[in-house]
Amino acid sequence: MAHRINHVAIVVEDLDSALAFWRDALGLPLSKTEDNPGEAVQIAFLPLGESEIELLQPTDPESGIGRYLAKRGQGMHHVCVEVDDIEATMARLAAHGVELINETPRVRPEGTRYAFVHPRSASGVLVELYELSRA
Ligand code: ZN
Repeated sequence: MAHRINHVAIVVEDLDSALAFWRDALGLPLSKTEDNPGEAVQIAFLPLGESEIELLQPTDPESGIGRYLAKRGQGMHHVCVEVDDIEATMARLAAHGVELINETPRVRPEGTRYAFVHPRSASGVLVELYELSRA
């Protein structure tokens, strides 16, 4: 079952300029920034209620997110929905004819399992599924 939005990810050209709105003007706390060389992004995490805003700044114009920024400009990149059982959720989606980008869940270093649903199947929105590590 899906039970909350884990985060909303926004692609930005420059983290400092983006933080001038999200942190300084709007007043969200900045909990941390993280370099993710694997996906060629720097990420700023701003908790908001039970969820987070993630600002993604590509560090390589040839990466997936770098090309996205060049083509579509800044804006919302994906919504991440937290689920209890990612395999059951993916099986349910597949049974509904939903197109998944990842056939099997991928795993982050801290143990979160994740997969993406193609925007073609999700009202034009890239949807990420998260199953948090229970450890
Ligand atoms: Zn995400």
